[in-house]
Amino acid sequence: MEEVERVKAEALQIMGVFSVLPKLVVLDLDYTIWPFYCECRSKRDTPYLFPDSRGILHALKHEKIDAAIASKSPTPDIATTYLHKLGIRSMFVAEEIFYSWTHKTDHFQKIHARTGIPYNSMLFFDDDNNNIRGISEIGVTSILVRNGLNLEAFRDGLAKFSQKGNASKKNKQKRPK
Ligand SMILES: [Mg+2]
Repeated sequence: MEEVERVKAEALQIMGVFSVLPKLVVLDLDYTIWPFYCECRSKRDTPYLFPDSRGILHALKHEKIDAAIASKSPTPDIATTYLHKLGIRSMFVAEEIFYSWTHKTDHFQKIHARTGIPYNSMLFFDDDNNNIRGISEIGVTSILVRNGLNLEAFRDGLAKFSQKGNASKKNKQKRPK
């Protein structure tokens, strides 16, 4: 538990650096918040997260930034059982877990419909570059994770989001009234 508190504190510190923050952070499941494909496992197994995932989720909650799931897992029943076992299922305002041939654009349409949050106020983490490219195209700041959601990826994501946010703010200021 101490480790979770340490990661949470560091994540809060990172968030404090940026003037513009996302309204919603969308997370993939397999190899993003946990280090396995849940379809290859049994519901009876005990799931575990990447070391920083839980602390980051707690920091988001503390800052009142919503979190959502966009997963193409073909076994949503195992995924939701694991979220429940890990005690984090209630931390997500939207949970889109279904197989799809798209690069998660249909997941994001559903998340947008459910939350009303525009794509340019979302930050997305995934370990699949095709999803990252597809979702970037619709205007969501998207970050490829290589070792799961950790503080380094979190910082990169917020930095990229903040840069985009500042750019759009400046453009707005330039526009004549
Ligand atoms: Mg994945």
